[in-house]
Amino acid sequence: MTALDNREGDLVQVPLSALEHYAYCPRQSGLILLEDSFADDAATVRGTLLHQRVDTPGNRGRGTVRTLHALPVWHDGYGLTGICDTVELHSNGRILPVEHKSGRYHPGGPADVQAAAQAICLEEMFRRPVPEAAIYSSADRRRHSVTVGDELRTRVHQLTATVRTMLATGQLPSPPADSRCRRCSMAIGCMPKVLASNRRYRQALTDLYTLNDAQDETR
Ligand code: SF4
Repeated sequence: MTALDNREGDLVQVPLSALEHYAYCPRQSGLILLEDSFADDAATVRGTLLHQRVDTPGNRGRGTVRTLHALPVWHDGYGLTGICDTVELHSNGRILPVEHKSGRYHPGGPADVQAAAQAICLEEMFRRPVPEAAIYSSADRRRHSVTVGDELRTRVHQLTATVRTMLATGQLPSPPADSRCRRCSMAIGCMPKVLASNRRYRQALTDLYTLNDAQDETR
């Protein structure tokens, strides 16, 4: 057993959603997984309400497509586990995971990693190739296709290993303190600018406790 295995010798499981959080900001993923902290803002509440609508477990048929909702999935080889919002089973054998997002879709962004990881889990479970996933953005009410190619699979694999290492070491990543923080619901608790090893802030902190000669002379 290593720090990356559990007592039974299986890999420590990494939640699918953690891949998206880590891809967006490693510290965000650390705050959620290691410190069990999560803060809501308008965007996350919108996302929660959206998922409440789509995450009602069930199995619905529509023509040649059977749709599964809130489907639990996992992959023992990758050590991944999670729930797919929606999985379409087409009569021609096509399997398509559809991840629902309340925000705008960014091609190549963190949501692609989560959708690809779902596809990889579904391949393991159905023993069938899943070369494509989709992300439905309620911001533009469109479905965006994600090709689950080699590059994205490698990214999923690497991110999974990185998140598992973070879980094993318990080390909280330092904050990037950049434009991502403006759209992050966790900024108040995270205090990115205070904690970042940012020269301007370190200088301000140093200056705070530095007495200059002029000040000394007035005493
Ligand atoms: S506030 Fe910034 S550094 Fe902190 S979790 Fe959010 S994005 Fe990451």
